Amino acid sequence: MTPEQIWNAALGELELELSKAKFITWLEHTSLLDCNNGSAVVGVPDTFTKTWLENKYHHYIVKALRRISRDEINMVQYRVCGKINRPAAIKKIPVQAISVKKNNEAGTNGEKVVANQQSQPLPNINIYNDPNGLIAAGLNSRYTFENFIIGKKNELAHAACSAVAKQLGEVYNPLFIYGGVGLGKTHLMQAVGHIVYSQQKKVLYVPCETFTNEYIDLVRKGQANKFMEKYRSVDLLMVDDIQFLGGKEGTQEAFFHTFNHLHRFNKQIILTADRPPRAIPALEQRLLSRFEGGMIVDVHTPDLETRIAILKQRCLEKNIDLPNDAAQFIASNIQNNVRELEGALNRVVAHLQLQKNIELTAESVKQVLSSYTQLPQHGSSTPQKIIQVVAEYYSLPIEELCGSARRKEALFPRQIAIYLMREETHIAFTKIGELLDGRDHTTMMHSYQKIASLIEADNKVHADVALIKQRLYNS
Ligand code: ADP
Ligand code: MG
Repeated sequence: MTPEQIWNAALGELELELSKAKFITWLEHTSLLDCNNGSAVVGVPDTFTKTWLENKYHHYIVKALRRISRDEINMVQYRVCGKINRPAAIKKIPVQAISVKKNNEAGTNGEKVVANQQSQPLPNINIYNDPNGLIAAGLNSRYTFENFIIGKKNELAHAACSAVAKQLGEVYNPLFIYGGVGLGKTHLMQAVGHIVYSQQKKVLYVPCETFTNEYIDLVRKGQANKFMEKYRSVDLLMVDDIQFLGGKEGTQEAFFHTFNHLHRFNKQIILTADRPPRAIPALEQRLLSRFEGGMIVDVHTPDLETRIAILKQRCLEKNIDLPNDAAQFIASNIQNNVRELEGALNRVVAHLQLQKNIELTAESVKQVLSSYTQLPQHGSSTPQKIIQVVAEYYSLPIEELCGSARRKEALFPRQIAIYLMREETHIAFTKIGELLDGRDHTTMMHSYQKIASLIEADNKVHADVALIKQRLYNS
């Protein structure tokens, strides 16, 4: 076989193993320059792709080459040699591909072939024939598994969602996903919804506030039956941002009965929140124990690699050629969450479209984003803001967090505030003590050290601090 034949066959295998987005992003413009005496040289378009393939996909490539080439491959190297166009390899549709015909909603027109990221085939979807049904189910056509990039910080949540989609009501019921804003909770939950919907099952997605408002509205009109009929007749109920149930006793009661009914009949429930169940203030014990009776998974801020992959995927969808260094620049500067990342990309694209003769380069991206007033700046927080955000997070009045009262409930939030003031603003312990009703600076030091070690040892504390930081820099 010639190197070209070997590489075409290897790409065929890689296409099946990797998601379509990853395949196109990292392998589209590659070639096999040489394959001899157990050693292969893969040609890549730039150093960025070279590093990426070496670090992320090397073992897939070695595996594929070993299977295809008759030689025993001992070494695979990567050499930068410019762009190779390989339309044939891209056009080939993998066996597991799902053809998704997007409806003509604003911003998404045209057809697209998107590969399934799961290793096991998921059912064939052709759901976009019936946009009205999708809307009634509360589903957004963009939030599918195919459009979701898996990274270290969301792989567990993704795996749980994927398992639930395959065995509805049988594993992980309820599934509870928590994490800060813009990290893909709604997207993942809805991805399950799409799969279930495509199996002609009854799916309902509602933001928690809709659930609450409908309950209040229908009960007031004396139509509680309607409410029960709607929420108890589904195969999959998804309630987003369930933390808003906190403190709403009537709705909690309605939700409790709805939950029990569905659960008893093995109907699936998926919930999301910005914090773990235990941290939701004023949540009834019986609901807490229901939420904790299933599977709880968290999502965290994506790492740089994942942020770059998300940008690349968005650009693929929009048919935009985003140079690697431009992607790197955006992803390195917008770190908080994916929603902000998408916002920055949209801003850059809109800006450059207005000024038609400017190209999308790292330099032009830098210019657009430096005028982006919301570009987060680490360390721009103040002790006052930290106190405010921590008090809000734990639903405590500021006076209680800072005041002299020794109420037990305020103790831990106060220690978190101390930790964050020191960590994020670097002010002296004596100054922190002054802000907290003249407390002694050694107490401040101990509190700081205690939280610092808890962050290492306790996942919940780690998640809480991450969420508070997110609010700090997002507000
Ligand atoms: P959350 O519900 O956690 O606040 P969303 O699910 O609304 O976040 O996600 C915010 C935006 O970011 C959406 O447009 C979503 O499609 C996108 N997004 C988040 N995570 C990912 C991911 N891993 N891959 C692709 N897109 C993502
Ligand atoms: Mg959401």
